[in-house]
Amino acid sequence: MPHKLIALYQNGNYLVKLYSDGTKIKQTGADNFIAEFPDSIDLKITNYCDKNCPMCHEGSSTLGEHAQLDAEFLATLKRGTELAIGGGNPLSHPQLEQFLERMSAQGIICNLTVNEKHLLENKERISHLIRNKLIYGLGISMQSYNEQAVEFARCYPNTVLHLINGVFMDYDKIADKGLRILILGYKKFGRGNAYFSPEIENQIAITKKKLPSLFGKFRLISFDNLALEQLGIKELIGTKEYDNMYMGDDGEGSMYIDLVAESFARSSTSTKRYPLETEITKMFKKIQLIRG
Ligand code: SF4
Repeated sequence: MPHKLIALYQNGNYLVKLYSDGTKIKQTGADNFIAEFPDSIDLKITNYCDKNCPMCHEGSSTLGEHAQLDAEFLATLKRGTELAIGGGNPLSHPQLEQFLERMSAQGIICNLTVNEKHLLENKERISHLIRNKLIYGLGISMQSYNEQAVEFARCYPNTVLHLINGVFMDYDKIADKGLRILILGYKKFGRGNAYFSPEIENQIAITKKKLPSLFGKFRLISFDNLALEQLGIKELIGTKEYDNMYMGDDGEGSMYIDLVAESFARSSTSTKRYPLETEITKMFKKIQLIRG
C-alpha cells in the first residue's frame, strides 16, 4: 500500500516530502541543500528520568527538572517540521499530552523517543498517542534484547529501535523480524564520557565488522551522523550511494533545543549553546554561522 504524504513544503532551496511511514525525501536542483529553517528538531522536554543509565549523555536523573513548554519560539515553528521529543523520560512530563495536542494543531509532526522499560510501563498510553496521531514515529531506546519491546515494535510499523553503537550487541536476536533500526553513535558526553571504556571501543569495532552481514535483515537500517563516522559507512557503501542517502550535517537542516536549560545548539553534543530566542528562523541562522 502506498504511504500517505503527510507534509510537503519548501525549505530554502529544497522541497521536503514526508510520508506516513516516516520516509523523508529532500529534493533540490542545486548542488547543496540550503535550509531556511530546521525541518527536524531534537527537542528535550525534561531532564527527569528514573533509569540512571550509566552511559546517559543527557546526565538525566530523578533530580532532573521538567521544562516549561510555552517558549515563545514554539509558535513560530513551520508546518511540517518534525520534532523528535525526548528527555530524560518524556513520558514523565505532566504536560506531554497537552503539548502534543498543541503541536499537532499547529501542523507539527511529533515523534517520541522512550526507553524500552518506560515503553512497557506505558504501553496503553503510547498506543493511544499513536492511534490519535499525536505522535507519528516512536523511537524505542533498547540497550539489550527485550522481547516485549520488540513485539510492540512489530505491531506498530512506525516504530524504530534506537540502538547505541558499542552498547547494544544483540543484533542477531532482532534480525529478520521486519524491524526498523537506527544506530546512534556512542556519545562521549554527559555520563557517556566516564562510561566509555576499552570494552565499549571493542564492541564498536565488533559492530563495524558485523554490519555488512546485517544489511537486508531489517526493514530499514539508518544511522545518525556520529554512527556514520564511527562505523565507516561511507567506505562501506561507497561515495555515490552514501551521497544519495545522506541527509546532511547536523545543523544543515536540523538542530537541538533543550527546553529545560532554555538553550539551543547544532546537536545534542555541541558544547556551544545559546539562550532561547523568540523566532525559530533566527535561532537556526545562528547555529549555521558558528560550528561546534
Ligand atoms: S539514557 Fe534514557 S533511559 Fe537512561 S537515564 Fe538517560 S534518559 Fe533515562
